[in-house]
Amino acid sequence: MATITILGSGTSDGIPQIGCTCAVCTSDDPHDKRLRSSALIRHEGKNVLIDCGPDFREQALRYGIDQIDAILCTHHHFDHITGLGELRPLSRRQEISVYALPATIEHIKTRFAYAFNPEQHGGGNPALRLIPLRARQEIEGLTVLTFTVMHGNVPITGFRIGGMVYITDASAIPGESKEIARKCPLLIVNALREKPHPTHFSIAEACAFAAEIEAERCFFIHMAHLVRHADVSETLPDRVWLAYDGLTLEFDLRDGFTE
Ligand SMILES: [Zn+2]
Ligand SMILES: [Zn+2]
Repeated sequence: MATITILGSGTSDGIPQIGCTCAVCTSDDPHDKRLRSSALIRHEGKNVLIDCGPDFREQALRYGIDQIDAILCTHHHFDHITGLGELRPLSRRQEISVYALPATIEHIKTRFAYAFNPEQHGGGNPALRLIPLRARQEIEGLTVLTFTVMHGNVPITGFRIGGMVYITDASAIPGESKEIARKCPLLIVNALREKPHPTHFSIAEACAFAAEIEAERCFFIHMAHLVRHADVSETLPDRVWLAYDGLTLEFDLRDGFTE
């Protein structure tokens, strides 16, 4: 067994959104406070992070994360990679492997150019080893399958690890990728808001996807401030829930996709 903790369930702005006084941004319900989307897999003393956004420092302090063994990056957008610059205190102990698509690696090298400049090596740089993702790889005892999902017209990465599928920032899923996700016991997938959006699933689209691939349990992430937890929760079908920051779920590593 492994666990996954949702470190952040919010869209790129975070909830509350700066300067917003809407009902969700001012809600007292802790489920309506959403840091930027990221998740931590814990397995046999190893910590594997999915995405490392601008809230990573706060997430690490809040959830007592004192070690990161590897990072899986879904894509290069601000809300998914900016926290790589916060890894210094953890990467002093050991270099951290960051797995990403080649295009994402190029973005990381540009954004954090100082960290990859040999002339600037010293205490100020996070020690990151950038490793291109393949269709299947062993990472810290986990068999990690990757597949393509479409974020608008940008191909980004979804993951299947044992019985768990993690998809963020997707607006469409190609057929081969659906096969890898099919019948997963645990689906974590983005659902931005009720209204459609060009680069993210809406709640209805995410529900339809979960039903189509026959996911046993489904949790939504990457939600905007238009989603009030208590209200939207009541509208969801059976076995579909809104995730929230701090939610921890167990999944079985033996329950993987078999070709
Ligand atoms: Zn995002
Ligand atoms: Zn994005």
